[in-house]
Amino acid sequence: MIDDTLPLLDLHRHLDGNIRPATIWQLAERNAITLPTANFEEFIPYVQVQHSEADLLAFLKKLDWGVAVLKNLDDVKRVAYENVEDAFNAGLHYVELRFSPYYMAMNHNLSITDVVAAIIDGVQAGLKSFNIKINLIGILSRTFGVKQCQLELEALLTFKDQLVAIDLAGDEYNFPGELFVEHFKQVRNAGLQVTVHAGEAGGAKSVWQAITELGATRIGHGVATITDQQLMTHMVNNNIAIESCLTSNFQTGTVNNISQHPLKEFLNFGIKACLNTDDPAVQGIEIKHEFEVAQKILHFSDNEIKQLQKNALAVSFLSNNDKATLLSNQNT
Ligand SMILES: [Zn+2]
Repeated sequence: MIDDTLPLLDLHRHLDGNIRPATIWQLAERNAITLPTANFEEFIPYVQVQHSEADLLAFLKKLDWGVAVLKNLDDVKRVAYENVEDAFNAGLHYVELRFSPYYMAMNHNLSITDVVAAIIDGVQAGLKSFNIKINLIGILSRTFGVKQCQLELEALLTFKDQLVAIDLAGDEYNFPGELFVEHFKQVRNAGLQVTVHAGEAGGAKSVWQAITELGATRIGHGVATITDQQLMTHMVNNNIAIESCLTSNFQTGTVNNISQHPLKEFLNFGIKACLNTDDPAVQGIEIKHEFEVAQKILHFSDNEIKQLQKNALAVSFLSNNDKATLLSNQNT
């Protein structure tokens, strides 16, 4: 099982995919937003996947109520704070929380820049209450198009010193990475790291594109990588990591069955793959559940579990000093 001598990390965790159903309910009431049902229990299926969804877009729809109730910056700050609390309660030692400020701002016309500031504030307040380390990743929501992503990027870059990376997320199939080459030039010029959702709803070509044209050193999901041996070799040789999310890949229909997930093959091939949640509140799971899934359904040995933990630390966007500190904290 999970090795306590190594820290527990979650590198692929959406802040705006982890808004508690109870918080959505309360904010809707306070902000006079009508929800589709008058009963909390009946509301849960609107914001939480019950089994699996038809595809990625159906899955992503479950995130919409969480951001629909964010009427002001205090609401944004609250969900950021609660994300820190949830990560701490999940037993995590270090988390890279990612968020799309436009997606959180759009329903009530909040300023995208103000939303980024509110997220940073909320996370900092959380860090005062809970003993956990957190870094932030800004997301460009490709679903809203090239121009909107440019505005989102500009808001994020205003706070570039408080971010470690920029990600591209959303509708991979209809908004391929080719559309965002100019955006990621700016990201790299700003000195930020790049992780990209690829090979989830798109094929191996999408993963190649993310690496060679967008400059990604980590790939979110990357399930389609398994279909291209040359790509796998390229990833090993160039130290490109895969952020795997087992339950999410089942719930989005990316794999029909978790037992068919290629994570073990990635690991055995030498790709630095690690295990993550994705959207914990929407999925109704936490990080420890994902390790249980790896062990029970994919039959990971204790050594392979340990390798996932080691890979997460190695590929995290932490400085070498911070990695060493995190590791030594586990052994004191
Ligand atoms: Zn994701």
